[in-house]
Amino acid sequence: EKSAFKNIKTLPPMGVSHLTNLFQEDKNDNKVNLGVGVYRTEENQPYMLPVVKKCALELVENPDLNFEYLPVLGNPEFTKAATELILGKDCKAIKEKRIVGVQTISGSGALRIAVEFISQHLKKRTCYMSNPTWKNHSLILKQAGFKTLKGYPYWNASKRNIDIPKLLAALNEAKQGDVILLQPSAHNPTGMDPTKRQWKQIAQVIKERNLFPFFDVAYQGFATGDPDRDTWAVRYFVKEGIETLIAQSFSKNMGLYNERVGNLIVVLKDAKHFEAVASQFTIIIRTNYSNPPAFCSRVVAKLLTDEHNKKEWLKTIGEMVDRIKKMRKTLTKKLKELETPGTWDHIEKQRGMFSFLGLPPNQCDKLLKEKHIYLLNSGRINVCGLNLNNIDYVAKSIDEVVRQE
Ligand code: PLP
Repeated sequence: EKSAFKNIKTLPPMGVSHLTNLFQEDKNDNKVNLGVGVYRTEENQPYMLPVVKKCALELVENPDLNFEYLPVLGNPEFTKAATELILGKDCKAIKEKRIVGVQTISGSGALRIAVEFISQHLKKRTCYMSNPTWKNHSLILKQAGFKTLKGYPYWNASKRNIDIPKLLAALNEAKQGDVILLQPSAHNPTGMDPTKRQWKQIAQVIKERNLFPFFDVAYQGFATGDPDRDTWAVRYFVKEGIETLIAQSFSKNMGLYNERVGNLIVVLKDAKHFEAVASQFTIIIRTNYSNPPAFCSRVVAKLLTDEHNKKEWLKTIGEMVDRIKKMRKTLTKKLKELETPGTWDHIEKQRGMFSFLGLPPNQCDKLLKEKHIYLLNSGRINVCGLNLNNIDYVAKSIDEVVRQE
């Protein structure tokens, strides 16, 4: 055979999009999609946030609108507003110009660009991730430059909470300069976040051992309903004078999934390093995709820099989070009413979009194959996929599958 492609290997289908395909092909009337991490309304519909739509329409109608290239590092108004959303307007590092903000192709793009920079210019080879974490973390981190990926313990399966002693012990064994990937709020997939006290302990070890924290902020607002509170941990690290990189996504909290709007924040100890760092990001982006798309960076900037718009956005996030909380509460209640063997309070305690049910893979498999309920094999469900029409069926199905053991 002469084809240049003859030795290319086919990889197995990838993660959650494969699950979505299976769901779409499923003809069963009872099917429920609790797989992909996207918000759904009570009517099981995708949600366009009203204020996002309003800002987008205003921009389209602006007679001065054009589609000229953005600068390589993106729309400065956007990166400024996005950075302030994470670090707070009164952040000392911002005032001292110790921040580089880089517009990215959403959160995934921020992770990718960050890892290229970290491995090429900070010469770091090893990264620790929570066990478990978002599946794409290990793929991006490996593809973009880390030689060694390690897990730090996170989820305590029997207690259904975070195993802080083991987490700290693992960090205590990391080598100087190792990168520690952290999710500050609404942890994917467990829905469990460290408390403020625990974050202080984590920061302490990172400082003492001279490790390098790398934050992934994909769900700001979804943990507590308040974006400021959700980034407490990041702000704490920055106040402590710790250098860090922060990947930020607007996919979930503005419903801008396919518009790919993100930001990467580099926090420096000294403003004198700004120019060198910015110049290296310029070449990384220039040689990847030249410059980022503009339109929704303008939407985000318009939303965040106008008091009324921002207020409306905060209100909407509050409503979305309330709906998720209500679904958590209802599912817990129903499982308790059914006297399903096991404990279920963790579903209500967890935060963000996801619940880590604590079901073993064979039970998840049964839910999928026999009950047409699509969830990850790890036992992660997207709570947004629940509504008052399907929650009885989901609870009853979980009950049946658990009892079959
Ligand atoms: N980080 C985590 C933990 C996520 O769950 C996701 C999306 O699911 C992302 C980053 C990146 O999302 P996006 O590339 O759409 O911003």
